[in-house]
Amino acid sequence: MRRLRNVKIVATLGPASNDYEMIKRLHEAGADVFRLNMSHGGHDEIRERHRIIREIERELESPIAILADLQGPKLRVGVFANEEEELVEGQKFRFDLDETAGTNARVCLPHPEIFKALEDGTTLLVNDGKIRLKVETCGADFADCIVTAGGAISNRKGVNVPEVVLPLAALSEKDRADLEFVCQLGVDWIALSFVQRAADVEEAKALIDGRAAVLSKIEKPTAVTSFDEILAVSDGIMVARGDLGVELPVQNVPPIQKRLVRRCRAAAKPVIVATQMLESMIESPMPTRAEVSDVATAIYEGADAIMLSAESAAGQYPVEAVSTMNNVAVEVESDPTYREIIEASRVVKRESVADGIVAAAREIAESTDIKAICCFTQSGTTALLTARERPRVPIIALTSLRGTARRLALSWGTNCIMTGELERFKQAVVNAARAAQSAGYATAADQIVVTAGVPFNVPGTTNILRVAPCDQSLIFASDPE
Ligand code: PGA
Ligand code: MN
Repeated sequence: MRRLRNVKIVATLGPASNDYEMIKRLHEAGADVFRLNMSHGGHDEIRERHRIIREIERELESPIAILADLQGPKLRVGVFANEEEELVEGQKFRFDLDETAGTNARVCLPHPEIFKALEDGTTLLVNDGKIRLKVETCGADFADCIVTAGGAISNRKGVNVPEVVLPLAALSEKDRADLEFVCQLGVDWIALSFVQRAADVEEAKALIDGRAAVLSKIEKPTAVTSFDEILAVSDGIMVARGDLGVELPVQNVPPIQKRLVRRCRAAAKPVIVATQMLESMIESPMPTRAEVSDVATAIYEGADAIMLSAESAAGQYPVEAVSTMNNVAVEVESDPTYREIIEASRVVKRESVADGIVAAAREIAESTDIKAICCFTQSGTTALLTARERPRVPIIALTSLRGTARRLALSWGTNCIMTGELERFKQAVVNAARAAQSAGYATAADQIVVTAGVPFNVPGTTNILRVAPCDQSLIFASDPE
């Protein structure tokens, strides 16, 4: 589906976006990637959402990425008899290991190892830090707390304990089961929550074994400290501002966001800015001005993607939230200041032939009347490097691998089109010209830039740049090969 913007939109699915009609509307409104949150919803629900996305993808013939987000070692409370309870400041509240439904006086916190790590006076934060509790007394299977900031607590809300280093493994039993489940379903990206070190990513990668690309969520202070090592072993990054802003003072989040987005752009790895982007649209059809500004900021920074969480998963206005992001993106990207900022923050890397070719492709395309940069890519690397250039002209990534096309749906400006297996470069040029025209980027009178690696199917061989006419007879006339 042709978009009028480069930044991509990730929409989380949930109870408000469960059925075919709604998921299709979200895609049409602008969602390029759907996030399946393994923290909510059972395997049957996830399987059904996955089936619907693939059905829509088949119908519209446009690759859609599916991102499965593993819960990770996130602490969550159990469920409540009334689904939700209001805690007020000064009241007592107990966390324990009793699995029966919670009340206004207690709830299950099903993590025995946590009770060992708690001490009298430790602060517990619930529901993105909205509710604060202080431990008064605790034992091996309970913690009696006093509420110091009240609010609504409901089923499976997250719990953060920022003051304590928690003795938790990178992947829980549930994560391992979920990982195998989503790999067998066939997802394009797997997000790892609460990554603390590069070894956590490597552990997950060994289990994923190439069946999906791996995205590390940066939401722990330790992940910020070890960011370079984590980025080196990850295929993509999410600036997970929700938990990050609970674990660290909120004012630390914007500088971290800026730094992480820049590092990811330099590494040619997609980066998602996530959480609370249009939070008020959970209940309102109109965003706040501050939210619009936040979405715009992420786009001006050159993030690959911006994400909706509860806005699309559980809110009252999922389609409006996607449209809002889309409209902000179209407006920002047509602002001349946007181009100035993007170009001033472009990373110049000239270490390989591929680096040189993607840079040359951009320069030629921008200095002459070229309608698109068409890159043939199997592993996706050439497309990622082309996206790193953040060119003014559209990027068309052509691949015979559906998995590559879907994964690239997360990357800035990358429009993916499936092509058959290729043997000769001229055939590639003809395919590129045809694709650029049928997708509406060029007419027969236009020219495109084509990049490829020959021989085809050998990863990391980007070695050809060709300026080609879209008119097929001219391609043949100008190139006897
Ligand atoms: P979550 O991750 O929505 O899975 O918590 C994103 C974040 O923490 O920002
Ligand atoms: Mn999180």
